[in-house]
Amino acid sequence: MARILIVEDEEKLARMLELELTHEGYETEKACDGRTGLEKALSGRFDLVLLDIMLPRLSGMEVLRRLRRAEEGHTPVLLLTARDAVMDKVSGLDAGAEDYITKPFAIEELLARIRAGLRKRGSAAAASPALTVGALSLDAAGRTVTLHGAPVTLTRREFDLLQYLMEHANHVLTREQLLSQVWGYDYAGETNAVDVYVSFLRNKLGAGVIETVRGVGYIMRR
Ligand code: CA
Repeated sequence: MARILIVEDEEKLARMLELELTHEGYETEKACDGRTGLEKALSGRFDLVLLDIMLPRLSGMEVLRRLRRAEEGHTPVLLLTARDAVMDKVSGLDAGAEDYITKPFAIEELLARIRAGLRKRGSAAAASPALTVGALSLDAAGRTVTLHGAPVTLTRREFDLLQYLMEHANHVLTREQLLSQVWGYDYAGETNAVDVYVSFLRNKLGAGVIETVRGVGYIMRR
């Protein structure tokens, strides 16, 4: 069964998460500060990390950054955030978090996102042929992108968004569709996250790579 690391300093919440996840059949371990959490996460023994943002000793964002810098395998990280600012979420996702959930949350919602995070980890490992659109080439298994043969560095979310756009080249995709497919569930009302990530991709790949379809969404054309 999947092993989940819970990095959370609120003892009651950590215990509740431990009980619920154990009940679901997951193996769990707890860390109640950022430094211990990072050490455990770096051990590579976990399939997913639940990471609180506000932590003593080392903030959740800093744990995430150091984890992403140090590890090769990319353990999915689900951020637990008490804040509701879009920029916090965007910077968390940009730093390499798989997803986030805002406290207080329903346990069913958390479990659904954990399952989605674990599924993604599984499907990313499956081999698939390179996708090409124009001068862009994307290797889903190796998680690499090249433009005119030169490698381009993308964050996890940028990569996932680009992959979905390339897989559906020549089709207009709505923001809602992109949110539910790329972000993995319904982010109702937060479609501006799509616009933010499209602009990140345009900055890295060129303005013309993704076209805006006014009032509808986005398209990549072969
Ligand atoms: Ca906290």
